[in-house]
This record gives sequence, C-alpha cells and structure tokens, in this order.
Amino acid sequence: MADPPTPVPVNIPPSFVFPTIGPALFSALRDAKPQRIVLQVPAGLIRNAHDLAARLREETGARVTVATRACFGACDFPSVDEAPKSDVAVVLGHSPIPNVRVVRPTYFVEMRDPGGDPEALAATVASAALPRKLGLVVSVQHLDLVEALTRALERGGREVRVGQGDRRLAYPAQALGCNYTGAEAVAADVDAFLFVGTGRFHPIGLAFAVDRPVWSLDPLQNVIEPPIDRGALIRKRQLTVARARDALHWGILVSSFAGQNRMPTALALQERAQSRGRDAEILVFDRLDPRDLEGRALDAYVNTACPRIALDDGELYAKPMLTPPEFLMALGELPLESYRFDTYH
Ligand code: SF4
Repeated sequence: MADPPTPVPVNIPPSFVFPTIGPALFSALRDAKPQRIVLQVPAGLIRNAHDLAARLREETGARVTVATRACFGACDFPSVDEAPKSDVAVVLGHSPIPNVRVVRPTYFVEMRDPGGDPEALAATVASAALPRKLGLVVSVQHLDLVEALTRALERGGREVRVGQGDRRLAYPAQALGCNYTGAEAVAADVDAFLFVGTGRFHPIGLAFAVDRPVWSLDPLQNVIEPPIDRGALIRKRQLTVARARDALHWGILVSSFAGQNRMPTALALQERAQSRGRDAEILVFDRLDPRDLEGRALDAYVNTACPRIALDDGELYAKPMLTPPEFLMALGELPLESYRFDTYH
C-alpha cells in the first residue's frame, strides 16, 4: 500500500508592524529581499507617496509600485489581482487586523505620533468637568499616549478603564471604525468615554456602539469637544429603517476586500428575507460607488461590507441602505428601539 500523502503545511504570509517609516522598516525590508514592493498609502498621506516610493527603492533596491485605489483601512490592502507581481506589501497608516489573513508578507506602518502632553491633556479634561469614571479609546496614531494619559487622569482623581476588544483589534484601547468591542467591554463600568484622536469618524462610531456620552480630545491641539448627540444619530437611522420597511426587492451588498467580505452573513440574510416574503439579490463589488447602484429595480439595500458606508455615506445613495442589524429591524426580527451597531467581528 502506498504511503499516505504528507500534509503540506499551510504557508500563512506574516504581518510585521512598525511605528513609523524609518531605519527599522528599511532594514527589515532589506532582510526580506523582495523583488517588488507594492506600497499602499491612505488619503491623508498621498502627497508623500511618491517620495516614499523613491526612498523605498533607494533603501531596498526593489522595484516599487504604488497602489492608487482609495483605501480606508487594513481591511482593504492590495489584492493579488491588483498587484500580481509584488512579493511584499507596505501599508501605511493602519494596524493589522489580526483575524484578516494577508495575501503576501505585509509591513504595516502605523505612523504613530509621539505628540501630546499627558499632564496638559489631563488638565483640559479636568477643566471640562467630565464624569469621574472614564473609558479610554484612542486612534492608532496616538496609542503611545494611553499609559501616561491614564496615569495623569488617575492622579487627577478619575477612574480610567481601558478595554480589550475582540480578535479584530490589535491593541487595548484601539479605535476601529467597524469594531468598538474594547469600549463595549468596559461600558458597564464607566459614565462616559474619552476618545483621543482627531476628526469625528471615531466619536460617531463610538456613539453608535456604546450608550454613554463620548467626549473627544485632540491630543495635538489639546482641545476637547463635548459629546455628539447619540439620540439624533440613532433617530436618523430609525427613520431610514422605517423607509425601507415595505421594500419587497432587496439588494444584499458584499465586498470582495479581504477584511470586508461577509458572504456567509449575506447568504443568511438572503434566507431571512425570503422567509419573510421578500426577494433579495446578492451584489458583489470591491469599492462601492453610488453610481454602481443606479437604475436597478431594487427598493432597498443591506450592506454587509464596511458598516460605515451605510452609516456615514448612506445619504449618497438614492435608495435606503441599511446595516445587517438594521435590516433585521426592518424585517421585524429585532426591536427598533434598542439600536444595535453593526460590529464587524
Ligand atoms: S471595515 Fe470600514 S471601519 Fe472597518 S477597518 Fe475597514 S474601512 Fe475601517
């Protein structure tokens, strides 16, 4: 009898994390000896993309191509089809998502910012009269502040909780637009959340995810903003759900990006729709554009890709676009009143 076949070990490409662009990154890349590197740069850093590509070429001797498709997170790194000949990827501005498998060795450069004075920030928090028990949530660029800011806030008499999220989050306290499970883990123990970072993207996501006031502290400007009106955000979504309630023909949107693909969820939702007398077509895409949905004989959509497309950009689409939990609200399977954020696990 022939010997049984020897199992072939599955070769999972590794991810590497660097705080900034610098000698450590270049040295690791030289050691990897890539032939060709694909470089992905988020919108905020595009101006530097070509200087950085030139620097990578100079430091490593490899060919470098720049991926130009807009990217929004570590969920949509360049696919094999987009950069077929590249044996290594360098992804700027994002942390890896631990449960998303990369397609080639990938070097995540988080662009950590060392700025922000913890004592001055704690004084600003004290002057704004926040509640005593605070949950801390921080954008990746400012994660190095967590320890010192926690101590400074505690010296000022506050109780600070930092939550550990699920396997989609690389760090405690980390903010990710589709997953605030770190905050959810400590929500019952705090009176409010303090988000440390810039912009409204994460404060809005957090406000959807946790039923606590979310204050925002810009660590570089040392400016604090009062909480977003969570009730108003949710009422707007409830109105969208109500508009979609009578829809008979649904489109279920599925992204092909590695970290946004929820095809099993889409298939389960399709069955739920059919069992409730609706028809539901699955539509696949990579990056979604409102023009892609124009002219279709569908009444409403449920988006299983990035939840922020429906929540932040839903108004760009002519027909109502719901998240999966909102879709279940529209079918009458979840209550409309206790709103549920579409956490991407
Ligand atoms: S799914 Fe959306 S929020 Fe989550 S990482 Fe990707 S782009 Fe960001």
